[in-house]
Amino acid sequence: MRYEVIVIGAGMVGTSVAWHLQKNNAEVLLLDKKLPGSETSYGNAGLIQREAIHTHPFPRQLSEMIRVLPNQGTDIRYRIPALLRYHQALLQYWKYSTPASVKKIEAEWQTLIEHCTSEHQTMIEASGAEYLISRKGWLQLHRSEETLKEAIAAAIKDREQGVEHTVLTIEELKAMEPSANFDDFVGAIHWLNSWQVSNPSLLVKSYAKNFQEMGGTIKESSVNEIVQEQDGWKIITDNDTFYSDKLVIAAGPWSNDLIKPLGYDLPLFPMRGYHQHFKVTEKNTINHSMFDMDKGFVMGPMQQGIRITTGAEMTTMNAPKNFGQLNTVLKFARKILPLEDAVESEAWAGSRPCMPDMKPVIGPAPQHDKLWFAFGHSHQGFTLGPTTGRLVEEMIHNKPLLVDIKPFSAERFSQ
Ligand SMILES: Cc1cc2nc3c(=O)[nH]c(=O)nc-3n(C[C@H](O)[C@H](O)[C@H](O)COP(=O)(O)OP(=O)(O)OC[C@H]3O[C@@H](n4cnc5c(N)ncnc54)[C@H](O)[C@@H]3O)c2cc1C
Repeated sequence: MRYEVIVIGAGMVGTSVAWHLQKNNAEVLLLDKKLPGSETSYGNAGLIQREAIHTHPFPRQLSEMIRVLPNQGTDIRYRIPALLRYHQALLQYWKYSTPASVKKIEAEWQTLIEHCTSEHQTMIEASGAEYLISRKGWLQLHRSEETLKEAIAAAIKDREQGVEHTVLTIEELKAMEPSANFDDFVGAIHWLNSWQVSNPSLLVKSYAKNFQEMGGTIKESSVNEIVQEQDGWKIITDNDTFYSDKLVIAAGPWSNDLIKPLGYDLPLFPMRGYHQHFKVTEKNTINHSMFDMDKGFVMGPMQQGIRITTGAEMTTMNAPKNFGQLNTVLKFARKILPLEDAVESEAWAGSRPCMPDMKPVIGPAPQHDKLWFAFGHSHQGFTLGPTTGRLVEEMIHNKPLLVDIKPFSAERFSQ
């Protein structure tokens, strides 16, 4: 079984890479241990974030560090084994988080984000997934005048980058979301040109189905070994062996496990998030996703119910779930909306694949021919999958590139 390209990982990123390659006449095998969109791309908040032109730097102000230290926050928590395990990556993350460095990183990051909705649109149309998309924007709620004022000033500047918003008073918010209680809030930013997906996993599955309709192959099989051969690659899975001329690694937070035996050790680290759905009733129906800016969690209207997603927990990939952060989030969420019957008996958890310089790795592998990397999209991989997919196809087929990919090259960690 020989293919022109094998893509490992059928999350939003790998599926988009496979889709673009197949569309451009490559013969592609998309390999995943699970069905497409079953891991991180299943559990996210489902936002296609045109407004996400700013990255998430490591907290460097003393006041922020003092706030995070007691480990009781809703936006960020940590576990000591993870701090020890990823200390080198975290140290780099700290170094990349100076204001000057963030400014440069964000300028590069924005070259990707500006294409996010148009690149999704191409794939949405091709795969008939329009019914999953809402273009009403989403609401960023503020509990303090101070954070609202700062956010408004930033949002006004962001207009220069094509990000559209309006500022909402509490009365306007109430009119838009009559079920919600905004007593603890002072106002909101309505991000107008970002989109909400009612079932993130189903969007990935729709793209994957369209990939198959174009002649692409999907196999559910866990990759155990990657071997470079004279004429390409041999991929040994738990139940088969596949061959290809070219290989793309798009395995999200697992990508390092796959490339380490080839001699790569990139500073990829996971940032876990949790979600739980609650049954929709007359009393808790909402029309928009709402992000509680000061507590760092999202409440979104999904096909499965109202999805509450937490902020980040710095932990190791296989650490047991710890529901402390989610339980604290739920206390705040329940003051906004009545959330009674949980849909699942246990909350979902998954890991954002993060890089210390807050940029994904997109590009050729530095030490091997015919090998490409596409991972590390951290908080916005659902948003950036299609843009990344297009770029990888353009690189593989030696076409002019949509954006300069040098800032995203794996080589940046070689020095
Ligand atoms: C709580 C939370 C909320 C989020 N909200 C948003 C949001 O609103 N908007 C946004 O843009 N992003 C959001 N994100 C981030 C986003 O979900 C991720 O960046 C994105 O899903 C990463 O996609 P991926 O394809 O790289 O990885 P994944 O979706 O994790 O896919 C990787 C795939 O690789 C496969 N794989 C791994 N190892 C192997 C192997 N050995 N063999 C075969 N297959 C393998 C896995 O099974 C998996 O399917 C959120 C994340 C979390 C956790």
